[in-house]
Amino acid sequence: MKTVYFDNAASTRTDPRVLEAMLPYFCECYANPSALHSPAQRARAEIEKSREKIAEYLGAQDASEIIFTSGATEANNTVINAFSGQMLVSAIEHPSVLNTATATQRAHLIPVDESGLVRMDIYAQMLEEVRPQLVSVMLVNNEIGTVQDIDTIGKMAHDAGARFHTDLTQGVGKCKMDLAMRPVDYATMSGHKFYAPKGVGALWVRDGAPFHKFQHGGTHENFRRAGTLNAPGIIGLGKAIEILESDAEEDNARAKAIRERLLDRLFQLPDVRLNGHPSGVPHILSVSFHRTEGESVIINLDSKGICCTAGSACSSGMHLKSQVLTAIGLPDDWLRGTVRLSIGRFNTLEEADLAAEALVQAVSEVRNLAGFAAG
Ligand code: PMP
Repeated sequence: MKTVYFDNAASTRTDPRVLEAMLPYFCECYANPSALHSPAQRARAEIEKSREKIAEYLGAQDASEIIFTSGATEANNTVINAFSGQMLVSAIEHPSVLNTATATQRAHLIPVDESGLVRMDIYAQMLEEVRPQLVSVMLVNNEIGTVQDIDTIGKMAHDAGARFHTDLTQGVGKCKMDLAMRPVDYATMSGHKFYAPKGVGALWVRDGAPFHKFQHGGTHENFRRAGTLNAPGIIGLGKAIEILESDAEEDNARAKAIRERLLDRLFQLPDVRLNGHPSGVPHILSVSFHRTEGESVIINLDSKGICCTAGSACSSGMHLKSQVLTAIGLPDDWLRGTVRLSIGRFNTLEEADLAAEALVQAVSEVRNLAGFAAG
């Protein structure tokens, strides 16, 4: 049975070109990149090239502003924990921001509207009342694909004397960056969302923004993140970014075509709705099927070789109600029947047809089984 993978927002396949760039750093050039001998320095030189590429892609002022991490979770924890004052975070942040911020007991959640956009009127009021030190709002939401206006949100934060962090994880390869020119102080990303491997990511800290290290130990990363550098991962991250420079446009055009093909077929079913903002990213498609059960649909699809997610991957299997779908005010009888398909570089239109057909069948079967009336 052919596997059709529409779960790219959870993780992407490593691009073979990325893997090829990484391979020499496992068994040939495996020295610790902090050592002084030549093999170590060879790895070190490639790591620094990777830092340059990422800085350039992000539109950072200098490569020294990039800190390599184990992913966006670590990078987000680092930023949030660097602040000891009050903070504002949007109600639909990824758990690595939301739960980290809430754990400080100094976080206030900014509500969003039904499309997932930050409620600017309430945000303005909260800035005045809370006087936060930090505001954190993600660029692209991982469950519904809504893109926030981080220029306005960041400027408002700065005008109120706060620093601004944005989680770029789902926006890399999809949105413009130009960070040095925008009202952003910290940005975070994770390699496996854009065809690099899992377990490597980056944190951008604008030169001059306050910084406190999260992980103590050696002198790595200019005393900012202790731990032996993940040479193959970092080199893969740089290669994945380099590939985006040439492939992202085509990737996004393909995702858009696939998205349209999926929607055309899915909307032939009765009682379907699309979640998120109409001008969201093309690769995330969140659809709710009224009076059905998302998890049963996912299991049914899996038996047909189709991979996707009910709500977000982080909460599936734990029967937790999606905080994002709750925050946009999706009623329970729609929320339960929500499925996220996320499109990637290696998907085809033929796969879209297969997945859409299987999904239509799965929803009908689950509705019939559960005795859900379609009307
Ligand atoms: N932020 C967002 C928006 C994400 O989608 C994810 C991954 N689901 C993360 C942060 C965390 O990334 P990682 O698990 O690779 O650290």
